[in-house]
Amino acid sequence: MPELAEAAYYARLWHPGLNHRILQVHAGSRAQFFRGIPAQAVRQALTDTVFLSARTHGKNLLFEFSGGLWLAGHLGMTGELLAGEPDHVPDKHEHLVLYTPEAALVFRDSRLFGGVKLTESLEGLPPEWLALPPEILSAGFTEQRVAEALKRHARQPLKAFLLDQTWFPGIGNWMADEALFQLRLPPSTPCGQVDPGALRKVLRHICRISLKTVGADWSDLPAAWLMRYRWKAGGHCPRCGAELARKTLRGRTACWCPGCQQGEDAPPASGKESGGLKRKRKEPAVRGPRRKGSRHALS
Ligand SMILES: [Zn+2]
Repeated sequence: MPELAEAAYYARLWHPGLNHRILQVHAGSRAQFFRGIPAQAVRQALTDTVFLSARTHGKNLLFEFSGGLWLAGHLGMTGELLAGEPDHVPDKHEHLVLYTPEAALVFRDSRLFGGVKLTESLEGLPPEWLALPPEILSAGFTEQRVAEALKRHARQPLKAFLLDQTWFPGIGNWMADEALFQLRLPPSTPCGQVDPGALRKVLRHICRISLKTVGADWSDLPAAWLMRYRWKAGGHCPRCGAELARKTLRGRTACWCPGCQQGEDAPPASGKESGGLKRKRKEPAVRGPRRKGSRHALS
């Protein structure tokens, strides 16, 4: 699932409660979910406030309440938000329910990787939120910034680096694989070889389309995207028809097309510029040995 779009999608599901008073709060007893703040304190603080806004930054969620109160959090691996009927009865996985006259705003998380933290900030957005790195669709996500990121991590495989939230907020495993697919680069490509302009363009494109198309079942993503086919084992590349490859890397499944994600050797896409590699002078002495090596290796 497109990670940053998933957070934005779920945050929108709480919109029925906007501008309504919180009549009652159900806060489960799991201190872990509330990041160490006692459930009782959360319950007391939020009861009788007005729910003012819901926003996201990458995978982060932020909800604003009257009186300068905020709930900052994230969904983790299994968290989800939903709006239930005003008389909703929480089950054991529903750690927070905010009851408004219109809807019950539910945060459900079966495995407790997600959670929220209550903070107070009377003068606008909480400082931790303001300190977050520029979002991929913001003006601050410049080519210069991407170039600096790639340069500083020149030897790291691009796939692993794209998951670094300090540089690429909101990019998760699937979106990183999609970016590599669209750049026609194998997951092991060292960051130092990647064209920053091409990477920035592809990331912004993926974020924009994901935010626009994401729905309840994610089936409305473009047919030419890898994301549509990586669900099933043995899926095929929508571009060249080759069987998709998968490998577990640091606990996450990387999925790519061995047919057309070969970096410099990738076949051109209908005569257009195809790869995400830096344009540079041909240096056979350097390229020779690498060609013999494991271009498809992932480590
Ligand atoms: Zn392919």
